[in-house]
Amino acid sequence: MTTPAMPVRNVATSGQATGTDGPDLLRRAHRVIPGGVWGHNRYPAAYDPDAYPAFAERGEGARLLGTDGRWYNDFLCGYGAMINGYGRQEIDGPAARRAAGGPTLTTATPASVELAELLVDLVDGADWATWGTSGSDATWTALLLARAHTGRRTVAVVDGAYHGSHSWCGWCNAPHGRHTDDRAAVLTLPWNDIGALDALFAAEGHQLAAVMITPFHHPIPGASELPDPAWLSALRAHCDHWGTLLISDDVRAGFRLDLRGSHTALGFSPDLVCFSKALGNGWPIAAVVGHARLRAAADEMFLAGTFWNSSPAMAAAAANLELLRQEDGVARMREAGEAFGSGLVRLAERHGVPLRISGPAAIPTATVDGDEDHAWMRRFAVHMAAQGTLIHPMHNWFVSTAHDSAVVEETLAHADTAMARTQEEGPAA
Ligand code: PMP
Repeated sequence: MTTPAMPVRNVATSGQATGTDGPDLLRRAHRVIPGGVWGHNRYPAAYDPDAYPAFAERGEGARLLGTDGRWYNDFLCGYGAMINGYGRQEIDGPAARRAAGGPTLTTATPASVELAELLVDLVDGADWATWGTSGSDATWTALLLARAHTGRRTVAVVDGAYHGSHSWCGWCNAPHGRHTDDRAAVLTLPWNDIGALDALFAAEGHQLAAVMITPFHHPIPGASELPDPAWLSALRAHCDHWGTLLISDDVRAGFRLDLRGSHTALGFSPDLVCFSKALGNGWPIAAVVGHARLRAAADEMFLAGTFWNSSPAMAAAAANLELLRQEDGVARMREAGEAFGSGLVRLAERHGVPLRISGPAAIPTATVDGDEDHAWMRRFAVHMAAQGTLIHPMHNWFVSTAHDSAVVEETLAHADTAMARTQEEGPAA
């Protein structure tokens, strides 16, 4: 895929900088942290340090307190991690109690068994669970499991899909440190294209260990696309025929569409499912869950991580999932997302902006027709930040159960002003 050029943030690294507000912190950060801050926030796409908060102190519900002393309605939710909002004592309390007893013990704790039992109970097709501390851990583990089970090496992924930062994933417009050899066993296929799927399996089926897909296609940048049911059933049929495993990378969408897994919401049956992001409501944890027929490979494989014995995130994850179940969190996020998305589209029509919302309501992606270089969305994101709402101009947004109607209405009011200001500066296309 092609990704837009994202120049590294141009922040002076010389001079006295000891302050704690955003721009000063950023200068301090640049002295001692490569890139200053990580990932998306490293790029000035929307993040002019004078216009967008690079650092935050804390969050409460759906709101984030920037080091600039301002509260923001947060529609990024820690890039998906915060599914029940910031500061939920029902989640952070059990985690804190576990942490007080020693965050990482020499052995596993009962929290790991309780969480595995809960995942097996909740997720469709899950007979066992194993761990990680990031989404990249989970997708890598799933790939290794598929190789161990099939004895094959090659994996196919969808063009433009992000499966993590490890070098096999290959999504990056900055290939630094990545070698084409790292991708030697990775093939790509287009989303929703049955002809290309047939051709891939005809040529490679005999050596394909797995096809890894996200439950819906959410490239960055770009509109999200739901799966064509005919493509999904052709994919499952090919996998069954060739003995290839189907992996659902539910790291980004997991638990926002359906507690049984996004595959249930979208109508397919993977052999392995990867979760992270929302699993622990902000506590670092990942899980790979799998079907019983893969159990032997999982039992035999060396799967390990020092922090897999950390129980706070596991206790948080169990409490988080229980809360989502008890409070019907998925339906609430869908309703809030629908109100937000339809409100934005109505505002856009009024302001004459060809804005579209794609993807499931709880993970909306906003794109503007003709805004190929994302200039309109970048300006809009900056105006939204000025109004008091955090969005990203090229990445999908996230809704949490804390995004109630008051937050949605206030954010739509911010969007009204931000759209007017963005339009005053020039048309979308
Ligand atoms: N898979 C998907 C679909 C993701 O969206 C992400 C993170 N954006 C990952 C994997 C990697 O997760 P992490 O950043 O926690 O390693």
